[in-house]
Amino acid sequence: MKCQSLAEFGKRLQSETRPDPEVTGTEVLLRVTASGVCHSDLHIREGCYNLGHGQTLSFADRGMKLPLVMGHEPVGQVIAAGPDAGDLVREKNFVIYPWQGCGECHQCNSGRENYCAAPRYLGMYADGGYADRIKIPHPKYLFDIGDISPEIAAPLACSGLTTFSALKKVEDTIKVAPVVIIGAGGLGLMAIGLVKAMGGLPPVVVDIDPAKRDAALKAGAGTAIDGAATDAVGQVQAATGGPALAVVDLVGAEPTANLAFNAVGKGGKIVIVGLFGGAAPWPLPLIPVKAVSIMGSYVGSLSEFAELMELAKAGKVAALPTQTVALEEAETVLNRLEEGKIVGRAVLTP
Ligand SMILES: [Zn+2]
Ligand SMILES: [Zn+2]
Repeated sequence: MKCQSLAEFGKRLQSETRPDPEVTGTEVLLRVTASGVCHSDLHIREGCYNLGHGQTLSFADRGMKLPLVMGHEPVGQVIAAGPDAGDLVREKNFVIYPWQGCGECHQCNSGRENYCAAPRYLGMYADGGYADRIKIPHPKYLFDIGDISPEIAAPLACSGLTTFSALKKVEDTIKVAPVVIIGAGGLGLMAIGLVKAMGGLPPVVVDIDPAKRDAALKAGAGTAIDGAATDAVGQVQAATGGPALAVVDLVGAEPTANLAFNAVGKGGKIVIVGLFGGAAPWPLPLIPVKAVSIMGSYVGSLSEFAELMELAKAGKVAALPTQTVALEEAETVLNRLEEGKIVGRAVLTP
């Protein structure tokens, strides 16, 4: 197999050739047909998140082992399976649920593998999709993509699921008033389509980049607002018809968390999804005074993914603008993503 692997945090990816993995038990080996490049891959390559207050969270300290094949948005076709994997269809494309847990803890047993304390997430704690082969522990993680093309299905595994799970947390409000979505990158465009699929009002989208605001309007946003404008909060509240009921922050930086807090009204909800980094900017007394709920959302569960894939196969999830790039170009793609030069999603194809 060939892969692009990370041998040292903060360094370039390397082209590598390895023997094909062998499968036993319930394991399945797939030929990768598409693998999305996610913004969080930049943090993995870097080896840390910025926690604000001059602190960082190191992936090495969290048990991430190198060399690692990144890529947590893989689609592939089954080429081999262990004796206990059951009958699996070949020559069909499956998107792989990457947020795999230990399978034994309370979280895993209650269907929340994405909250497992001993995660085996593909592309983070196990080798992922920046390769032409990928091995997974069990076929339950495979979802038939139907008529969707592999490059369109790939981003569903992270950007799709992440935004779906975040929107599920404010589902009770999205039909009452437009939800505010901060950030119109890959996740933002996916969120706009999902709000529509869930029956919500066209969302109010905030981004500082005019090209991304245009893309948001084309994707179905009701309004697109420049987050750097001095009256951004006023513009958001005008578009939501008063203080916002719900804000989904797909950036997760201090200025966006601040904007979210100022735009939301009493009893409102803020869901933070983005991992840009920084420290919480809110005055503590205003959290109870506004009775605001501030919650985090991290990817999504296996059952949420099943629900999302049903919506996607029914044609209810708008496809992201994607650009396919050869696997060997992974490093270049990451650099372009870092420079903010990718609108929509880049997908590697071996
Ligand atoms: Zn991701
Ligand atoms: Zn677990």
